[in-house]
Amino acid sequence: MSFEKLNLIKPIEKALAEEGYIHPTPIQHQAIPFILERKDILGCAQTGTGKTAAFAVPILQILYSEKPAEKYKRTINSLILTPTRELALQIGESFKTYGKYTGLKSTVIFGGVSQKGQTDLLRNGVDILIATPGRLLDLMNQNFVSLQNIKLFVLDEADRMLDMGFINDVKKIISKLPAKRQSLFFSATMPREIIKFAGTILSDPVKIEVTPESPAVETIKQGVYFVAKPNKKALLIHLLKNESIDSALVFTRTKHGADQVTKILNGAKIHAEAIHGNKSQNARQRALSNFKSKRTRVLVATDIASRGIDVDKLSHVINYEMPDVSETYVHRIGRTGRAGLSGVALSFCDAEEKSLLKDINRFINIPIPVIRDHPFVQNEKEIGNINPSANNSRVTKKKSGEDFNPADAGQKNKKRWFGKNSFKGKSKSYGRNTARKY
Ligand code: AMP
Repeated sequence: MSFEKLNLIKPIEKALAEEGYIHPTPIQHQAIPFILERKDILGCAQTGTGKTAAFAVPILQILYSEKPAEKYKRTINSLILTPTRELALQIGESFKTYGKYTGLKSTVIFGGVSQKGQTDLLRNGVDILIATPGRLLDLMNQNFVSLQNIKLFVLDEADRMLDMGFINDVKKIISKLPAKRQSLFFSATMPREIIKFAGTILSDPVKIEVTPESPAVETIKQGVYFVAKPNKKALLIHLLKNESIDSALVFTRTKHGADQVTKILNGAKIHAEAIHGNKSQNARQRALSNFKSKRTRVLVATDIASRGIDVDKLSHVINYEMPDVSETYVHRIGRTGRAGLSGVALSFCDAEEKSLLKDINRFINIPIPVIRDHPFVQNEKEIGNINPSANNSRVTKKKSGEDFNPADAGQKNKKRWFGKNSFKGKSKSYGRNTARKY
């Protein structure tokens, strides 16, 4: 499909052609017609998919079509909220490039620099404003910015906004927008809280999802441990005590969880650092460079903070918590097994997470093999069937002749791993009660 089929106006077509854009990317192809029909959008897409043009092009087209022919007083008609200064600048560049023959004016505002240059530009009048939340609120409070004429609002990288702690600022800004508006909501991941948040902003949205290319999961050895939640820490320590794990990227669902796991590992003399949105940019970069140069063996990360982390020869990915979205599983494990190297991806699944595992098994088509040979085996009755269909029960079915009674698996394994007496000793430091404290 070419851009011609999207019925774009000539000034935009010309600018895109000059950029060498011939075919719209999947998100552009899917989103542009709906945005031009003035529909709200809930888009699941990452940077790098052509997402910026997917919203910038139709916004420019709508504003251009509604612009008075004669000279007019510019007011901010479109607001794009994005979490970082880098993204704001990138989006600003895109609007300038795609809109260069439209006569529309855009500007970018973000914190960390003097506001003078920004307020001068605002005073001269702009049609499109690209902003980070903190500086926007600041300038709104000083009456440099009014949002009362916003027709088109874009919330970009919503999951990152949440992770970086901007959600309250974003909510304050949204409360100042006119109720009658078109809203476009983009997020790279769609955990439950993001979907809930989107529901408060959008009205009858069209849902669009683009999947970046999946990594070749075949080269990655996968396994899942059934383990009770309070025993996850002990299992992690147990695995990482094994020197053959050269480097491990451990995923937790929350920032708080990442900090806790890091603390526990360091307490067990396993050097670990955490990377997540509450850490300063410097701390994140330092942790990442220590991990890349192998000074730190274990990096504990949240999904969003770890986005774009590309570590050569990462031997293990450990899902300390199962991801909410199956696709995230594929992204997580794809951090290992890169460039044809082999990799290992291990997941910890507790009783509450079994439905997530079931979804993942359905998504990747081949159920993740269950590793039963470990000291903290969870009673499988509690876990239940984790296969997508009863016929496809390669994982949970007992191998013929296997002496395996799920009910006493944990006890048996502990005895085998730690011995009758040593088990008692180990349970003191690793067991249920101690683990609960953390
Ligand atoms: P984004 O996901 O918006 O950050 O875009 C990623 C990159 O793809 C940017 O460098 C864009 O300039 C480029 N790009 C976006 N759309 C197209 C397209 N239809 N054809 C070629 N390049 C594109």
